[in-house]
Amino acid sequence: MDFDEFCRHFHNEEACFDTLYKDKWPNGYCCVRCGHEHASLIRTRRLPLYECKNCRYQASLISGTVMEGSRTPLHKWFKAIFLLASSEAWTNAVKLAATINVTYKTAWLIMHKVRFVMSQANAQELLSGIVRVKAAVYGKPHNPTVHRHPSEHPLLVGASINSSGEMTHVKMIQVRPEHLSANGILRSGTNDFVAQHVASPTAGLNVETKRYNLRGYQPLLLCCKEASNWMKDVYHGIGPKHLQVYLDEFCYRLNYTLRNESPLLQLFKLCASATAITYERLTRSHQQYSQKTQIAASAA
Ligand SMILES: [Zn+2]
Repeated sequence: MDFDEFCRHFHNEEACFDTLYKDKWPNGYCCVRCGHEHASLIRTRRLPLYECKNCRYQASLISGTVMEGSRTPLHKWFKAIFLLASSEAWTNAVKLAATINVTYKTAWLIMHKVRFVMSQANAQELLSGIVRVKAAVYGKPHNPTVHRHPSEHPLLVGASINSSGEMTHVKMIQVRPEHLSANGILRSGTNDFVAQHVASPTAGLNVETKRYNLRGYQPLLLCCKEASNWMKDVYHGIGPKHLQVYLDEFCYRLNYTLRNESPLLQLFKLCASATAITYERLTRSHQQYSQKTQIAASAA
């Protein structure tokens, strides 16, 4: 289905209810509070309300999902999710706002909430089997030196590799300021990456942390280059504050592509079940990161 067909299908709220219901309750209605399987339907609100016949708990289709509390119509959310899951993924908040006819702030918030879902999904799947990890850099300066340039953001990029040497799952992680020295990634950084992102025990783990080292497993560096080009083309570059969520967005789609699966169906399911993130929490997590960066920069 292309975007025009998708828009024709999900043209109003009613068209979205069925899909959302199936993604939220794939085995039929189930009360989130008591587990009861029967509800009465109340249709007087913008969205239908399901009232549990046992405990009277009321839930709408977006209760407890990434869309909870949003006044944006469902079909606009659906279109945003479609565009974020699409392998072309050439949308940014300005384009999305114009495409689905919402304000820039609403478009930005929808995109970040969907990216948060992608980040959570990425975090749940660990690298395993034969694992290659390489140091990489986002925002490489024209004349790299031994010392880190302020526009360079060190990354650790890792992949699970199958017996034919192909990548089956990729992670790109921004190295936190406390794991960096003036000219590279500290051992604590690679230890942290392995602890957080690699299933243990893995016999085939290989970690390469030398900067600008063109030897080793090349597909990881090509992936990074692709991610950098995408961020440059679509967003005109990303600062350190938001870099990780954009890397997560890139990896989410990439990993489905590597498995020859559609990222769209799963993203709908996740958005219909994942817990919402508030604007305050979203901006707070970004603020905390930039504060840490500033503290590390002033300490260096
Ligand atoms: Zn109940």
